[in-house]
Amino acid sequence: MTEHTKTDGLPGMDMPVVAEAGAGGFGKAPPRNEKMSTAKVECNACPVLCQISDGRTGACDRYANREGVLVRVDPVVLLRREIASEAPTLVPFDRPAADKVEGGAPDWNGDLLHADEVFVTGVGSSTTYPDYKPAPFIVASKAQGVDMVTVVTEGIFSYCSFKVKIDTDRFLGSEQANVRYRGEVVGHVTTAEYGSQMLSLGGVHHLTGGSKKEGRMTAELMQLLGNKKAVECTIDGGSTLVIQAGRAPIVNGVEEQRMRVGCGSAAVGIFARQFAGVADEVVVVDDHITGVLTEHQAGRCLDMAPSGIQMLGRKSTPGRYFQVANPGNGWGGTDIADPLSIIEGWEEGVARPGLRLLMTSTTGEHAQWYVLDEALKPVEQPMPPEVRRIVERIGENCEPSLCTVLFLGGAGGSLRAGVTENPVLLTRAIKRALVNVTCGGAPAYVWPGGGITVMADVMRMPDNSFGTVPTPAIVAPIEFSMRQADYEALGGHMEHIFPLEQALARGAWQEDGAPLARQWLVMDDANPWPLGHTPMLG
Ligand code: SF4
Repeated sequence: MTEHTKTDGLPGMDMPVVAEAGAGGFGKAPPRNEKMSTAKVECNACPVLCQISDGRTGACDRYANREGVLVRVDPVVLLRREIASEAPTLVPFDRPAADKVEGGAPDWNGDLLHADEVFVTGVGSSTTYPDYKPAPFIVASKAQGVDMVTVVTEGIFSYCSFKVKIDTDRFLGSEQANVRYRGEVVGHVTTAEYGSQMLSLGGVHHLTGGSKKEGRMTAELMQLLGNKKAVECTIDGGSTLVIQAGRAPIVNGVEEQRMRVGCGSAAVGIFARQFAGVADEVVVVDDHITGVLTEHQAGRCLDMAPSGIQMLGRKSTPGRYFQVANPGNGWGGTDIADPLSIIEGWEEGVARPGLRLLMTSTTGEHAQWYVLDEALKPVEQPMPPEVRRIVERIGENCEPSLCTVLFLGGAGGSLRAGVTENPVLLTRAIKRALVNVTCGGAPAYVWPGGGITVMADVMRMPDNSFGTVPTPAIVAPIEFSMRQADYEALGGHMEHIFPLEQALARGAWQEDGAPLARQWLVMDDANPWPLGHTPMLG
């Protein structure tokens, strides 16, 4: 392989101390296979150890052989609070092989007037897996005059999953039902939340515990979801779904519009005072709790006369009925198309001809108006405008239906070795709120208890933050920011700290597998600036 030498850097710039190979250093390891062609390079960024020919990429498409040099092909994403151009700009680093990057010669001129407004993310930063080298970027900078360090890496996560919240009351599948992607089981339906169905997708069981195909499909689905792309899944015994972070779900080919205003009982409570006087009875149909106004406490408080309606299902408490129908894609997340099918009858002597009945779903998408005839049979009638307005208000109070995708990853393993020689000190420092953890600059919620289990909203992360390796596992950016003094106290790799200026000019400290270019993006407005911020601890 072609040897290359370090550059001298830019004037006035300290270059990092790069450990020599062998004797406990972190240089290029000799290839495993001594018969490997000299025209190839071995990638040691993951245990697959691809042997890569010149001009080709390895199995994950993240590393390539550029004229004998192993390089990370994607640019490192750098965030700035503001940038002049909205278009992401690609700037080659001042290092060997970087002149092959499309975009021209290195142009950095040392202008860092706003150095405290630059954040190096783990996206494209490179790494090893399991971690046995210091992280590729251990960047010194200042925040409000305080010396800070940010340890930046691309974590490779075997233990990780996506929790997907789908704002719909339609039936997607039974709790615990398998979710399939391209025929393989990649997750399951988990506990529904208020107004939303929830999926748990990916995870170590599907990545590594099943067949090779299951692992591959799981990794593919996770990468697509994390990168905000649309994926189509099927749920055993349930629906076909298209889910995409930040977009409305498509259930059985129909794009969901509204997230329900609440359960049937909540909707009765919210709108009871508006219904009183314009209707004699209101039934809000819901798969969870169907509300009946005159029986409900809200109706009682308004002195509404009982209507004599007799409902199917299991009465929970007055005016609140469970299981009026099966789950489905009809009214209120039930399987009914005819709302009258959940009324068992009317109590004689209580119900009266002329009684005005509104039946509506929890989103107001379905609503019908009836008047009881002489035989106490509901007869559909045109809905009066004052009632129509309330139904429209139910719709107005529904939020747009969205898919929310949260990445959940375990960073408490070997990844910590890239940060410190004494990994438990990093875990403890995070729990003591000394270290802010971010994923691609996005705030990461750190779960309580042992380990470093983080959760981040993929919508707050840069596009294309996620990758895969064929072990299989998921590649995701992670950054640890702290005071320099705290970094030293937790046994950090102090000899591999280098200033932000150098990170911008030359990139990662290592020669092998380093990225060749940086890409500027503007920080998402929703994200707090990672430096000088405490972690979101559980
Ligand atoms: S799969 Fe990717 S990271 Fe792993 S050895 Fe091959 S090129 Fe390197």
